[in-house]
Amino acid sequence: MKRYLSWSGGKDSSASIVLCYEKGIPLDGVIFSEVMFDHSRNISGENPEHIKWVYETAIPIIQKMGYQVEVVRAKDDYLSIFNHRITRSKVSERVGKKCGWLIGGMCAANRALKIRPIKDFYKNVVDEYEQIIGIAVDEPERLIRLKSNSRSVLAEFGFVENDTYGICRPYGLLSPDYGKFSRGGCWFCPNNSVERFANFAKEYPELWAELEKLSHDEEIVSQGFKYGRTFQSVNREINLINNQISIFDFLK
Ligand code: SF4
Repeated sequence: MKRYLSWSGGKDSSASIVLCYEKGIPLDGVIFSEVMFDHSRNISGENPEHIKWVYETAIPIIQKMGYQVEVVRAKDDYLSIFNHRITRSKVSERVGKKCGWLIGGMCAANRALKIRPIKDFYKNVVDEYEQIIGIAVDEPERLIRLKSNSRSVLAEFGFVENDTYGICRPYGLLSPDYGKFSRGGCWFCPNNSVERFANFAKEYPELWAELEKLSHDEEIVSQGFKYGRTFQSVNREINLINNQISIFDFLK
């Protein structure tokens, strides 16, 4: 039987790799699914610092542990989802228009860009296999939903979510995202806080400008950039936050 570990680069799946390594659990591969913003320009949808760490730090560490890392990507990207034209809808005016922003709580990118390439990977595994998923023992509702060919080594060894920081850190497998945010994810995620967007817009103005450009598209159906709030509304708030910070810095 083959054994694979689904790795997001987050603390729970990274700690699962460490546990496999320490407990001598062999893996046939560590599968990393990368969400892309734009394939044609090779712009990742993952946070820039995180994806840099994935390729330049984490993957080499995991390979040194003796595990092969397989990066999988969907053939679609954020832009293709945004620009996808609706062919069928109960609301006739929507037909022919573009989908637009991701809908918070019903993220199409999660299904099409994150999960689908992993499913496609497993479809091509001809042997029987099991998947190791990073779910801690204190996440019972997620553990219950584990499929019969899936297991969690974190739960088997009794680790709670908070333990995972200490498991990853000595191996250099804690993403730099955790120094700044409590969760990882895509830089355009509607679940990001406005403060996080403000920070991102300041650090990566060229990526924020990509979203700003999209916000002028008049053909989109989904106008809510962040749970019903338009991009313009969020952008006004982040400008306020970032300008306040510069005034504060100036007065210091
Ligand atoms: S991080 Fe956010 S935008 Fe990215 S796939 Fe998950 S829910 Fe969607």
